[in-house]
Order: sequence, then C-alpha cells, then structure tokens
Amino acid sequence: MNFDFTPEQEMLRETVRKFVDREIIPYIKEWDERGQFDRNVLKRLAELNLMGVCIPEKYGGMGMDYNSLAIVCEELERGDTAIRTAVSVHTGLNSLTLLQWGTEEQKQKYLVPQARGEKIGAYALTEPNAGSDVAAIQTTAVRKGDHYVLNGQKTWISLCDIADHFIVFAYTDKGKKHRGISAFIVERTFPGFSSRSIKGKLGIRAGNTGELFFDNVKVPAENLLGEEGEGFKIAMSALDNGRFTVAAGAAGLIQACLEACVKYCRERKTFGKEIGRHQLVQQMIAHMEAGLQISRLLVYRAGYLKNLGRRTTREVSLAKWIACDFANKAADDAVQIHGAYGYANEYPVERYLRNSKAPVIYEGTREIHTLLQAEYALGYRKDKPLRKTLPPWEGTGSAGTS
Ligand SMILES: Cc1cc2nc3c(=O)[nH]c(=O)nc-3n(C[C@H](O)[C@H](O)[C@H](O)COP(=O)(O)OP(=O)(O)OC[C@H]3O[C@@H](n4cnc5c(N)ncnc54)[C@H](O)[C@@H]3O)c2cc1C
Repeated sequence: MNFDFTPEQEMLRETVRKFVDREIIPYIKEWDERGQFDRNVLKRLAELNLMGVCIPEKYGGMGMDYNSLAIVCEELERGDTAIRTAVSVHTGLNSLTLLQWGTEEQKQKYLVPQARGEKIGAYALTEPNAGSDVAAIQTTAVRKGDHYVLNGQKTWISLCDIADHFIVFAYTDKGKKHRGISAFIVERTFPGFSSRSIKGKLGIRAGNTGELFFDNVKVPAENLLGEEGEGFKIAMSALDNGRFTVAAGAAGLIQACLEACVKYCRERKTFGKEIGRHQLVQQMIAHMEAGLQISRLLVYRAGYLKNLGRRTTREVSLAKWIACDFANKAADDAVQIHGAYGYANEYPVERYLRNSKAPVIYEGTREIHTLLQAEYALGYRKDKPLRKTLPPWEGTGSAGTS
C-alpha cells in the first residue's frame, strides 16, 4: 500500500486551494446572503481545467485519476459546499455517467464540451413524490417514431437554472417497475422544458437548486442513454461517482471546521486560559481530526479502487455516509466552540452547519446508507455486474493514491 499523493496530485491540490482562498472565501459570505449562484465560478473552474479533471484527454478532460477529482472536491468544499455541489453534479453525476454509458456520438456531442466546461451538466432523478424510493417517479417518456415525448416534473435538482444538459430519468414502461425506467440526455433548449429555483433553503444558499418541468418535450431517440429499461442501473451507477465526490467534499468541510476552530481556540480565553486548553473543547477538536482522517481514508481508498476499474458501490456508500455524518457533527461542534459568536455570520461556522445538512440527505440519506451497509454486511445485498463499467484510469503515474 502506498498512501502518498503523486506530485501532480499535490500540485492540483495547491492550485485548487489557492483558487478557493483567493476567489471563493473572500466573497462567499455575500453570495450566501444574496442566495444566488455566481456563474462566473464555473467559468473560472473551466479556465483552470477543473470541470473535467478525471475525464480522459480524448474527451476534453485533463486525464487525471479519480482521486484527483476527490482532491478538487475536498478543496472546493473547504471554501463552500455550493461550489463543490456544482462540480459533484456536473462531473460526478453527469459527465462520468456519459463516459460510462454514452455512445461515441453522445460523448463527442455532450461529454467533450462538458469536460472543457463550455457546457454544464446536471442530473434529474428526484420528483415531488420520489426521493429515496426511485421507482415511485412519475415522469414518462413515450416513443413516437424517431423521438421520445417526455412529460413530468423533477424537484430539488442542483443547477436547475444553470445547466445546459440534464440526464433525466423517466418511465418508458411503468408496468416493469424499476426495470421500466430509462435515461435521457435533455437539453435546456428543447421546447417544453422549463425550470424554477427553490427559495428559502437552510444551506447551500450560494447554490442553485430547483424544479424542472417537461411539457411534451421532444427528445431525439439518439439521446436515450444506455438501453430502454436501463435507467435505474444508470441512475445508481451515477450515484457511485456522485457520492464519491460528496464524501470528498465532506472531508473538506471538516478541514474548514478544524481550521476555524483551531484559530478560535488559540484566540479566545476563558478562566485565564485559551479555550483550546479545556479538555471538553479538545474532545470536539479530537473528534474533528478523527473524522477528517477517517473520511479521507475511506474516500481515497474508493478512488484507488475506481482507478483500477473496480466496482465501488459499497465502499463509496460507506465513505459518503461516514464522511457526511462526521462533517455535520464537526460543523455543529464548530458552532459550539465559537459560543455565541458561532451563532452569527461574522464567523463562517454557522454557514458550515447549515451547509453540512444537505449532504446527509442528498445522494442517499443517512438512513439509506445505513441500510445498504447492513445489507452488505449481512449478505442480503450483492452487486450484479453492469453491462457498462466506469473505465479504469488510463494514466501511468506512480502508484500513490492513484
Ligand atoms: C440541496 C439539495 C440538492 C439536491 N440535488 C439533487 C439533484 O441534483 N438531483 C436529484 O435528482 N436530486 C437532488 N436532491 C434530492 C435528494 O437526492 C433527495 O432529497 C434524497 O434522495 C431524499 O429524498 P426525499 O427528500 O424525497 O426524502 P424521502 O425519500 O421522502 O425520505 C424522508 C425520510 O424518510 C427516510 N426514509 C425513506 N425511506 C426509508 C427507508 N426505506 N428506511 C428508513 N428510512 C427511510 C429518509 O432517510 C428521510 O429521513 C437534492 C436535495 C437537496 C437537499
């Protein structure tokens, strides 16, 4: 085993860290207060080649390994969860799904501009009456000659007003239950498509989340992703990549909590000493440190397995569950350590706490991951081979976490 990052990965981390320090942290409080997503952030990420970091060069990406994507997400969420969520959705849930399941034509048409950051991708599974229970979706797609007609509604879709392309899941045969779901690439410009953002969110306020509406949207047959009836498998395999990025981001949030708290512990004094000298405060710091190290180990091991081309459903689910829970607890403790000052936005920790909640809900709630882990451990769940797998990393870099 080799736990070292490669020089290229270290350089990437440094690049993202500098970007976050210079271009996110100074402005994020204002973006969060305004409750608006700043599109320029994605433009800047594209200029730094960060929108397709682990997409092969032949498809417009940087050709780095899967752990490089984790590094990008970890460092971005040190700045803010909204920015990391955007990359999770664009690269983790959409672009990697195109890489895994797309035809060569679909990759050329949609993946290449997405990897370059010229177009933005998103992922639309959740509906008003279907979150954890995916088979309860009601959106339908009816084949009519050379196209499908989509009708229905999605909700809680990240980048709803920003993305150019969406992977949309709809029933082509309701009678077959989850085996009757299919996946489609839908462009924002297709007539009958509209979106509307959700206001009043607890956290990720600097992000864009909302509803999509499909009113007789004509989708060309060549935009069917995978085969008819393969949508459920595609949706789940996309989550293997999305959850990986969410878990990496959670480690970044713990890092941000730790940095804020260590600074505050050394500044604030009670009973004649720095609060960091009180053992009960130290307990919270120790828990953050443990959470950070455990989360990173789980994430980078999953990335290592992805690099080898192995299935990571089980490992990624565990990493996502544990890292997000630790991040939520770290953010709660970060507010506690700041006392009353932690309760207002003079310090960033209240935003960390608000932001840390959504990742415990999205891409599989804490409860769903708990069930998955129990089922794997009990032998009730086994992953069946997929028709198309995420390609292994083709690079030749030194071992390390790659
Ligand atoms: C900020 C944000 C961004 C999002 N972005 C996207 C996106 O880009 N694309 C997308 O498709 N979706 C997105 N979502 C939606 C998200 O994936 C869903 O909210 C999530 O899957 C949970 O579904 P739900 O909210 O319908 O909760 P439900 O499934 O209704 O669950 C409600 C509660 O019941 C529990 N529960 C449900 N079933 C079980 C069970 N079998 N056993 C035990 N407990 C159970 C859940 O854990 C939860 O506590 C986003 C959500 C948020 C908050």
